[in-house]
Amino acid sequence: MARIRTIKPELLTSRNVSTYSDALFRTFVGLFCYVDDQGRGENDPELIKAEIAPRIKAKTPRVIAGHIAQLAAGDDPPLCRYEVADVPYFHLVNFVQGAKHQRINRPTKSKIPPCPIHEPDGLW
Ligand SMILES: [Zn+2]
Repeated sequence: MARIRTIKPELLTSRNVSTYSDALFRTFVGLFCYVDDQGRGENDPELIKAEIAPRIKAKTPRVIAGHIAQLAAGDDPPLCRYEVADVPYFHLVNFVQGAKHQRINRPTKSKIPPCPIHEPDGLW
């Protein structure tokens, strides 16, 4: 179930985000609505496509998987992929910490396990 999110103006002027193609940017913003209030989501491109781009034929699960790989690459990437009990997940790194891109007023607990790298003491 997609969620209502806000976009901060800083996202539009970010030096890093400005290098994204429009297609990549649309996926990135779509992921804001896909992840839970802790910024976490199951890394299942078919599920992601169904939620963020059900009517965009060109945005196949394969394209989405490529976008996720791009967002997880480089120095200080905005997205981090991880696995817990063989289930692939990702989280948006600055989604909660520092509220760089998002501020959640009354966050609901996550049903997704925290990232062992960035959130070793993360809330469920
Ligand atoms: Zn992480």
